[in-house]
Amino acid sequence: PVDPAEKYDYILVGGGTAGCVLANKLSADGNKKVLVLEAGPSGDSLEVAVPAGIARLFAHPVMDWGMSSLTQKQLVAREIYLARGRLLGGSSGTNATLYHRGTSSDYDSWGLEGWTSKDVLDWFVKAECYGDGPKPYHGNSGSMNVEQPRYQNPLHEEFFRAAAAAGIPANPDFNDWSRPQDGYGEFQVAQNKGQRADTYRTYLKPALSRGNLKVVTGARTTKVHIEKGSSGPRARGVEFATQQFGDRYSAQLAPGGEVLMCTGAVHTPHLLMLSGVGPAAALREHGVDVVADLAGVGANLQDHPAAVVAVRAKPEFEKLSVTSEIYDEKCNIKLGAVAQYLFNRRGPLATTGCDHGAFVRTSGSHSQPDLQMRFVPGCALDPDGVKSYIVFGELKKQGRAWPGGITLQLLAIRAKSKGSIGLKAADPFINPAININYFSDPADLATLKQGVRMARDIARQEPLRKYLQEETFPGERASSDSDIEEYVRRTVHSGNALVGTCAMGTSPAKGAVVSSSDLKVFGVEGLRVVDASVLPQIPGGQTGAATVMVAERAAALLKGQTTMAPSRQPVAA
Ligand code: FAD
Repeated sequence: PVDPAEKYDYILVGGGTAGCVLANKLSADGNKKVLVLEAGPSGDSLEVAVPAGIARLFAHPVMDWGMSSLTQKQLVAREIYLARGRLLGGSSGTNATLYHRGTSSDYDSWGLEGWTSKDVLDWFVKAECYGDGPKPYHGNSGSMNVEQPRYQNPLHEEFFRAAAAAGIPANPDFNDWSRPQDGYGEFQVAQNKGQRADTYRTYLKPALSRGNLKVVTGARTTKVHIEKGSSGPRARGVEFATQQFGDRYSAQLAPGGEVLMCTGAVHTPHLLMLSGVGPAAALREHGVDVVADLAGVGANLQDHPAAVVAVRAKPEFEKLSVTSEIYDEKCNIKLGAVAQYLFNRRGPLATTGCDHGAFVRTSGSHSQPDLQMRFVPGCALDPDGVKSYIVFGELKKQGRAWPGGITLQLLAIRAKSKGSIGLKAADPFINPAININYFSDPADLATLKQGVRMARDIARQEPLRKYLQEETFPGERASSDSDIEEYVRRTVHSGNALVGTCAMGTSPAKGAVVSSSDLKVFGVEGLRVVDASVLPQIPGGQTGAATVMVAERAAALLKGQTTMAPSRQPVAA
């Protein structure tokens, strides 16, 4: 698949969210030869393009990595399923398309010179194509299409009224940093007129015909070749396999070239460790030759743990649910929904289902929201998030309808718990040991428990109550503090926001893996990390926008168009 005599200025390992941004930007002027190695297929399929197709992407046999955490004792000995996209566009091709940056304080609290809210705002705005929005918080000339959700369900309005009745203020734009994040409202989405705007469609596809850009799908990188030269370790290229356990190939760097790791917060630390970069003792335990002893590789894993409250609709209101708008009595897709999408890219297929909601503080001690509520005008079939789609498969087999109702998915968006990624074996085909470690900080459990109470309170407000009957999850009987805690531990699932496992910072002694001034891996030449794993602390919103921001900025840095020095422009209020 790659001519062994060919040498590349940049080898991008992983054609995911960040990889597609870099592939476009770095190949744009034609001066550099760029190779993208992506383990999965192209992102062209219909279930990726159509937002409602997300239902088919969880645990997809080809387009998802199908990974789970180690058994979590504190979560009733469960393994937590961790969705990760495995296709061009990566997780931007399988995610819920919500476009959130978090708040300016999220970035200011990193305490990294050059990465304050002032510094990152420019790059968020440059990347974005939103149209008219409050300046300077939105851009309209970037590649990443962002818009307001196009599907409206009558229950959305009722949710807003119920949230207001519960004392939550309205928020017209969660990405407007001149106002607090608190409030209910529409979530902006990374979509283009109702079609998913993942980075394959928005960045990579328009660049595919360039002669200096080679993209190989089905190419799973197994190792970065790092030479221990007299002047220190230097990346020379990578080894990859084209089918599981199949032949190995190599791709080489041109002199001065660089390997850019873009495989995301699980695979990037895994591949670095397999290549000898990581905590030395742990690598040696698995017989890996150490090239750089970096304790931070795989440490500092963060996510948004999530739980749900779901309530069935009264029989006369069953049909209001988004699921009833998409599926008929036998769980087959309705032609009307397809026609509506085909003709004007509207209707229930234009939504991933959770693009309305709220950001709230679960106690007065929080300086900003610790909880995101995603309102779904449909009833979860299982409290463990993704398992709804598995139960749905069973309903379909039995020819039964998806019952109507509402769901509030609750996410601890400024979670403090930290987990880790380590080696299970030196074999690249054996998944890493992922210790997701939810609730290692009890504050996250407290957030979700209070979230359950607040969600119930909203569902019981008159505007929603009139549509609803008994609560399905957790169920009315779960009323005491210990019942709710037991429910949350038994059903908590991933909010799919894994970050932090190759954190940027100023010094490896403080746990950093890459330098915040250039994203270079400490102690290895010709090797950088550009993906969600460099975010040192999880932002209080979904993580796709921040990943694109990092990639846009890294591309400009590599092209000599910017530095990571602090911005001189203040964030205007
Ligand atoms: P990815 O986009 O995951 O890219 C990594 C790429 O590397 C993948 O294409 C993968 O196949 C490839 N790869 C991995 N290992 C190898 C290897 N060995 N060789 C070659 N290729 C390899 N964020 C939001 O902003 N909004 C949301 O609504 C949202 N919802 C989400 C829902 C789900 C189900 C998921 C999974 C994520 C969600 N996120 C959301 C998070 C967001 O999508 C991610 O933070 C972001 O996409 C991460 O980008 P990345 O470039 O780090 O990794």
